[in-house]
Amino acid sequence: MNKKHNNSLVWFRRDLRDYDHAALSHALQESNHVFCIFIFDKEILNALKHKEDRRVEFIWESVKELKGSLREKKSDLIVTHDLASNAISRAIDEFKIDAIYANRDYEPHAIKRDEAIKNLAIKKNVAFYDFKDQVVFEKNEILTALDKPYTVFTPYKNNYLKKLNQITLPRFDIEPFIKNLAQFKSEPLLSLKDMGFQTTNLHDIKIHTGMKGGKLLVEDFKERMSLYKKTRDFPAIKGVSYLSVHLRFGTVSIRQLFRLALESFNEGSESWLNELIWREFYFQILFHRPDVAFGKAFKKEYELIAFENNPDYFKAWTEGKTGYPIVDAAMRQLNQTGFMHNRLRMIAASFLVKDLLVDWRWGEAYFAEKLIDFDLSANNGGWQWAASTGCDAQPWFRIFNPMTQSLRFDPQGKFIKKYIPELYSLDNDEIHAPWLSQKTQKIDYPKPIVDHASQRIKALALYKSVKS
Ligand SMILES: Cc1cc2nc3c(=O)[nH]c(=O)nc-3n(C[C@H](O)[C@H](O)[C@H](O)COP(=O)(O)OP(=O)(O)OC[C@H]3O[C@@H](n4cnc5c(N)ncnc54)[C@H](O)[C@@H]3O)c2cc1C
Repeated sequence: MNKKHNNSLVWFRRDLRDYDHAALSHALQESNHVFCIFIFDKEILNALKHKEDRRVEFIWESVKELKGSLREKKSDLIVTHDLASNAISRAIDEFKIDAIYANRDYEPHAIKRDEAIKNLAIKKNVAFYDFKDQVVFEKNEILTALDKPYTVFTPYKNNYLKKLNQITLPRFDIEPFIKNLAQFKSEPLLSLKDMGFQTTNLHDIKIHTGMKGGKLLVEDFKERMSLYKKTRDFPAIKGVSYLSVHLRFGTVSIRQLFRLALESFNEGSESWLNELIWREFYFQILFHRPDVAFGKAFKKEYELIAFENNPDYFKAWTEGKTGYPIVDAAMRQLNQTGFMHNRLRMIAASFLVKDLLVDWRWGEAYFAEKLIDFDLSANNGGWQWAASTGCDAQPWFRIFNPMTQSLRFDPQGKFIKKYIPELYSLDNDEIHAPWLSQKTQKIDYPKPIVDHASQRIKALALYKSVKS
């Protein structure tokens, strides 16, 4: 049968799987031969501060699996370490490509990169198609009655759920069209070292990569989903899905997760669905207000807050040495594993901004450097929520008390003791404020660097000063 294109190129980016994949499925249906490419983009990698980066290793492992999976299908994955424009241009010439297929990315830098590739494609007389794949609803699909983007979550969610009920989540099949994958052999996979990177502790901390890793976590979470609402706020309990890194790199399909939640239909699945919708809420905020990615507060008046920005406080926070155990355990978890539980992200972020009076952008940048699941939209959304500068954020006058949060969400200090073993001997009633216990005189753990009660008063004054 005559196809629209002879040789197509599927460009994998944050969608490292070969099932339920919009761009791949469309390319296979519309082309005689489909070639696949992944580019370790020098523009992105060169900007990374550390050459031991769990994300790069996670991607590398996932690309390795994807390449192996395509090889089992008698095809291959072209993998290069280059600028996107160079790599795509070379592939077009080498494989006589007449169409490029990719899944859409909504971050400002990615949009700019894709515009440049679209222009390159036009110059070379090659078609360029992009598809919605990493979200269920994108761009302007969920708008208010006045056709404006939502800035408050609950009405957005209500409209979202209404629209969700009206559609069938598409399945982008690959298997029926597999014979259209180009049969060829590409170079062996370059190593992390070839790109100037080193391995990290990813294997030691048992982070499962790739499609197999995603599947493992989905299977594990399926059994626990009904308990999600009750357990999701307790970092010492295995209550959440831990799927964020897989959503970040597309080693799971978002539609598959939605189907799972919708089929389950209990208080746990409903609550989890809510979180998946928060993810898309922040995607659409970033899409409509790209300035938030460049340090701008969503609510303009908060641009004027004169944060104290004490560098010693910031350093203590990054190192998990503030003297507040719940904050320090959270930061140590982040440093040691690249993950931080959602409740702790809220506590640590609030503490930096409203107790240490450090600009939320400093914290946002630190999380961006360390989080294995770093996603610009959710990270920015989370920080602006905690700092009260965001859309639908924590009200400015609400300030988490780190001791109360600790007592409520880690009552026996189990999580704290895992990351701060030096506090092991403290009882449940001492662990949340160890400076009050005599025992800590012999323990090598810092005294609080600030007093919560007095910092709270300062924070309220700072915020009040910019309120009109
Ligand atoms: C300051 C701060 C920074 C954050 N930075 C990021 C980030 O860089 N990347 C990231 O994926 N999430 C971020 N989050 C949101 C949330 O903390 C993580 O998504 C969650 O902890 C990941 O764990 P999980 O996969 O087990 O989540 P689950 O509780 O199992 O939730 C399932 C999925 O829903 C999405 N989700 C859950 N909560 C949120 C939320 N509040 N906002 C947006 N999406 C959500 C995630 O994709 C998550 O994987 C941040 C939150 C805060 C407060």
